[in-house]
Amino acid sequence: MNTLSPAQAPDTLPRWLAGPRIGALPAPDAGMAAPLLSFEFFPPRTEALEAQLWACVRRLERLAPRFVSVTYGAGGTTQARTHATVERLVHETSLVPAAHLTCIGASRAEVDEIARRYWQAGVRHIVALRGDPPPGQSVVPRADGYAHAADLVAGLKRVADFEISVAAYPETHPEAVSPEADLDNLKRKLDAGASRAITQYFFDGEVYLRFLDRCLAAGITAPIVPGVLPVSNYAQAARFSGLCGATIPAWLTRMFDGTEDDPETRRMVAAVVAAQQVRLLQANGVDEFHIYTLNRADLAYAIAHILGVRPVPSGQSAASA
Ligand SMILES: Cc1cc2nc3c(=O)[nH]c(=O)nc-3n(C[C@H](O)[C@H](O)[C@H](O)COP(=O)(O)OP(=O)(O)OC[C@H]3O[C@@H](n4cnc5c(N)ncnc54)[C@H](O)[C@@H]3O)c2cc1C
Repeated sequence: MNTLSPAQAPDTLPRWLAGPRIGALPAPDAGMAAPLLSFEFFPPRTEALEAQLWACVRRLERLAPRFVSVTYGAGGTTQARTHATVERLVHETSLVPAAHLTCIGASRAEVDEIARRYWQAGVRHIVALRGDPPPGQSVVPRADGYAHAADLVAGLKRVADFEISVAAYPETHPEAVSPEADLDNLKRKLDAGASRAITQYFFDGEVYLRFLDRCLAAGITAPIVPGVLPVSNYAQAARFSGLCGATIPAWLTRMFDGTEDDPETRRMVAAVVAAQQVRLLQANGVDEFHIYTLNRADLAYAIAHILGVRPVPSGQSAASA
């Protein structure tokens, strides 16, 4: 027998070395400032989910994020739960909470009243969004409501001097007539008083970096913070991505292929994918990240660690860290 395995064949090394050379991504070193992080939670529906959320909050609190945000069901479906979660963050943690607030399906007076209650409760940061109609229904602005998020931002600024974040879409919002019109809308939201945008999640770092180029060319200089979604449940992410216009690259599908009944491997793959994504952005100079935690601490904590973020000694808060 004299058969050579593929690795023993004489052309093996030339074949291995035939591809493009890729420089290693730099690891955060001691002299490099740790990035600013924010974490997003959703208001829990059950006692079990409530316990999961607060375990997650407590673990991530040690990383002294710049702020943590709590989502809001459009049309007010989670209004009480969002409010209760945000109030608890104010009273029981050292975290700086940001309350998501949507305007679709509500009157201006109703939205303003919710904002006033947040201000009275000590909340100074709102993530201002239009929201989506219930599945199957189309967007019909109310005559007495805020039609778009830019109108909501202006309305919130009239209520109080909130810090306001808005949504941005590296792959363009599905309803936008064109990428340019969507960018004009982002600029209107910032001009109306928002100080930062947080992006819809994306998986292709180049798409986001090109979007930053387009923002800058359009005269936008506010931070467009990348929203990072660690994909712990590929099937669910694929379904949701179809609705919100985030592309699932073929390589991502291949990465998760065959892990449907193997949650342990899936989580390891998820960690690798998220680590690649954030390291690429960090190597390109991005030093603020918003992590969609889905109320689970492990992947979010690992991503923060990879980015060079370490727990602060107890007693120090985000503001003092
Ligand atoms: C970081 C982030 C957090 C989110 N959190 C929540 C949440 O907590 N709860 C929730 O329900 N949803 C949330 N969403 C989803 C969001 O509500 C939807 O994506 C919604 O469809 C659009 O909201 P918006 O604030 O971007 O809307 P807008 O900025 O108002 O834009 C919506 C669409 O209208 C177009 N548009 C805007 N103004 C005009 C105009 N004057 N004329 C014509 N077209 C116009 C825009 O181009 C865009 O296509 C979040 C999204 C992101 C990225």
